[in-house]
Amino acid sequence: MSRTKGMNVTCERCGNTVFLKQIEDLVMDGGLTRNEQYEEMPEGWGTFYCEGKSMDMCPRCLEHMRNAVKEAMLVFAIERRRE
Ligand SMILES: [Zn+2]
Repeated sequence: MSRTKGMNVTCERCGNTVFLKQIEDLVMDGGLTRNEQYEEMPEGWGTFYCEGKSMDMCPRCLEHMRNAVKEAMLVFAIERRRE
């Protein structure tokens, strides 16, 4: 029985997952250090950084969060102007 090695990346907002195949397993220092190499995340997937946290997200959620941040900044700017 063979199983494709890899890892699942889960969107931390909606739970959508993508499977990244492990390309190679570099073993260094006689096995002390293992460096696992994975496929690139598919187009559009990425990491969203917010308040010191990083979250993996699917393209749809990344887009949503970017718009939400833009709106939040806009609201903040408008409220500052009112002071
Ligand atoms: Zn998502």
